[in-house]
Amino acid sequence: MRVTGGCLYGAIRFEGDSEPRFQVACYCTDCRRTSGAGHAAMMGFAVGAIRITPGAREFTSKADSGNDIVRAFCPTCGSGIYSLTAGMPNLIFLRASALDDTSLYTPQLAVWAARAPAWDVVPSHLPAFVEAPIGN
Ligand SMILES: [Zn+2]
Ligand SMILES: [Zn+2]
Repeated sequence: MRVTGGCLYGAIRFEGDSEPRFQVACYCTDCRRTSGAGHAAMMGFAVGAIRITPGAREFTSKADSGNDIVRAFCPTCGSGIYSLTAGMPNLIFLRASALDDTSLYTPQLAVWAARAPAWDVVPSHLPAFVEAPIGN
């Protein structure tokens, strides 16, 4: 698919022609805190398949799995752009919130579902994992 997106003011943009390896809704505490919602919506692509304007500010935190997670934000406007996890070093996770066309995102599973707040429930049709079976 053709995927494009970017931050609030367009200072940071991304683009690529690639199929997502998988699409996930993460309800972990760190994703909630950084998303501005109850979960982060993310599309994992092969590293290198997505071109991104240089200069996003990266913040690293330790996931409950013990893996380092990098979350990258526009340094000007604060929009979330992508994340990287040491558990899946070949993938880059674009924030679906930054997509130009939000319909490109089709979540396939929910992780850390037990942490979903009552005001952002996991859709009933999604396979839901209490923790994270993969990477995060
Ligand atoms: Zn998460
Ligand atoms: Zn920005």
